[in-house]
Amino acid sequence: MSNETELPTFTGTEVGYYFICPKKLWWFAHGVQMEQGNDRVKMGKLVHEESYQRRKKELNIDDRIVIDWREDGVIHEVKLTDKMEAAHEMQLLYYLYYLKRWKGVEDLRGQIDYPKLRETKSVELTPEREREIEQALGEMQRIVDSRTAPVVEWMRICASCSYAELCWG
Ligand code: SF4
Repeated sequence: MSNETELPTFTGTEVGYYFICPKKLWWFAHGVQMEQGNDRVKMGKLVHEESYQRRKKELNIDDRIVIDWREDGVIHEVKLTDKMEAAHEMQLLYYLYYLKRWKGVEDLRGQIDYPKLRETKSVELTPEREREIEQALGEMQRIVDSRTAPVVEWMRICASCSYAELCWG
């Protein structure tokens, strides 16, 4: 998309959900928010709070993106496991994209931290990844504007998804 004013903005959570499952984004955007009671989400929050307590200083930007902490031109996103690494990566790319496109902050890199695994993954916003993000934003808008949920096949992650009962009874 060439005209940035036409680009919708979403929260980092919504972007992450879209890349996990478009139906999950649809539920969330339509006011069904169930993650608070999910044990796995609680565990993730605990890891956030415990592992980086000293250096963590969350930065909330426009109530759209929340950066866990930043240091030396690197913004960090803390995650519990790498099972949904592709979605985590796109969420962090969106942060980099958001900062560049709407805040004029460039030359940042991203890093996903997995404290439980003692691993990290670097993320870079290349022109190609920017296009991926822009395409995703357009598709996300189409999904949330739809009155009906997108049709998806059952996936392994459905077994641990908080929306499973709504999707599959
Ligand atoms: S249960 Fe499966 S299909 Fe439904 S929102 Fe969750 S991941 Fe998507």
